Amino acid sequence: MGETVPVREGLFTNAPGGEVRLVGGRCTSCGEHHFPRLPTCPSCSSGACEEILLSDRGSLWVWTAVTAPPPGYRGEVPFGFGVVELPEGLRVITRLTEAVPSRLVFGQPMRLDVVPLHVDDDGRTVVTYAFTPS
Ligand SMILES: [Zn+2]
Repeated sequence: MGETVPVREGLFTNAPGGEVRLVGGRCTSCGEHHFPRLPTCPSCSSGACEEILLSDRGSLWVWTAVTAPPPGYRGEVPFGFGVVELPEGLRVITRLTEAVPSRLVFGQPMRLDVVPLHVDDDGRTVVTYAFTPS
């Protein structure tokens, strides 16, 4: 893939050859997890949130296929889009590598991956996180 850049800094770890993990937050006051990471807990408004790496496995909760490119989106369509529930009890809105809804079933195991989105003006491959059937 050559040089890659994340679609947005701070969403996921992307060390070459290393594991991919979503960067979330955990509230040290109420214990709830959230993603993306926020300075203030969305459940109890506490400012005592610590950064954590979330599980790279989850189960499929809801899904669809996006067939028309959203504004500003330069990648390919169709692509899968949905919600994956992590063991932490957190539901993450995510791109899916499977773009055919009928090939997916509720509750099926999913694994985190990093996928190319498009090539930017500097010739770098812009990558994002996605869940793939495992
Ligand atoms: Zn909280």
